[in-house]
Amino acid sequence: MMPNRVYLDYNASAPPRPEVTKAVTDALACAGNASSVHAEGRRARALIEEAREQVAELTGAPPASIIFTSGGTEASAFALSPQWLCGGGSPRRPLARLFVSAIEHPSVLAGGQFAPEDVERLPVTSRGAVDLAHAARRLESYSQETGGAPFMVSLMLANNETGAVQPVAGLAAIAHRLGGIMHTDAVQGAGKMAFSAAALQADLISLSAHKLAGPKGVGALIVASDRLTHARPLLRGGGQEMGRRGGTENVPGIAGFGAAAEIAQRELASLPRTKSLRDRLEAELRCMAPETIIFSESTDRLVNTTSFAVPGMQAETLVIALDLQGIAVSAGSACASGKVAPSHVLGAMGASRTAALAAIRVSLGWGTAMADIERFLAAWSALYARHKDRLAAA
Ligand code: PLP
Repeated sequence: MMPNRVYLDYNASAPPRPEVTKAVTDALACAGNASSVHAEGRRARALIEEAREQVAELTGAPPASIIFTSGGTEASAFALSPQWLCGGGSPRRPLARLFVSAIEHPSVLAGGQFAPEDVERLPVTSRGAVDLAHAARRLESYSQETGGAPFMVSLMLANNETGAVQPVAGLAAIAHRLGGIMHTDAVQGAGKMAFSAAALQADLISLSAHKLAGPKGVGALIVASDRLTHARPLLRGGGQEMGRRGGTENVPGIAGFGAAAEIAQRELASLPRTKSLRDRLEAELRCMAPETIIFSESTDRLVNTTSFAVPGMQAETLVIALDLQGIAVSAGSACASGKVAPSHVLGAMGASRTAALAAIRVSLGWGTAMADIERFLAAWSALYARHKDRLAAA
């Protein structure tokens, strides 16, 4: 980590732990190609298979169900496909529709290999969780209208902006009852909450290493259901990843992912420490400015995430001001083609444009100490005082 900086943007990317950096550099020195039969090749293969075991351990999924990819985006691009066959591979209609929650990451909202007109958004409540009753009604009416046409549903495990944990198992039960396939983007949830592929009941699960303090550019798709086969490999080529994703494996990245998964599993026990830092931060923010909105406050949330706003303050400017003071956080808005757009997540929750444009995301992790929270609060207090002065002068 950069010296004298306070890094509070773990949901964007978590700094790799020293053990991860070591696993990556050690693997980088391995000469072999994992497809070769000689000792160097067998060493590369062993590193990949060890990492597969470590990711399996974190997720409770069988090692053979894990396909390494270049990250969460690629995992979801493969998962969201009309070409999955369900049950014995007997000829069936391709999946006709993809339902996604309105607060998914853009890599899921994009719909993978589904045609844009076949992707339908499911609404969320003002608390930031998918509206399960609405989703159940919509899936049932779709099934009735189409005479039971097969479909896919995608619901993230936890939202990247608010941290709101989603009812994946509940929606999976509804989808399965109607013959649907369930995908979950578990990129933000893995390593930040107790996680088990079996409990989630999802058929397909996307993961990304850099959100759990692993290297960037590596992830995995878990094909958790043995009822599923895919008509095509993700990438055609040399038959790597059990024939499902061609291309010489990213051995250093995969080894780093494995190391990160092993530590994340061990460190689940330290989540209460992170929660107490986050709770202290929120209490102080409220104390300083009672008008502070904390998004998804009254729903089950990742313990490391706070998304908050003081309406009237401008997040884009605040992020730059904080950066100049050595503090890294995110705005809950995105800058596209020079224009600041309010977050689609906060918009779907019904937040006002003013509140959404003020939203700041602070996300904590393994390297966060109370001193970091205090430095952030001191900087925030000065920015808030300036805001109040401006209001008084207006
Ligand atoms: N899904 C969620 C919820 C994310 O937060 C992100 C990254 O921001 C991704 C998917 C994309 O993962 P990757 O960066 O590995 O492609």
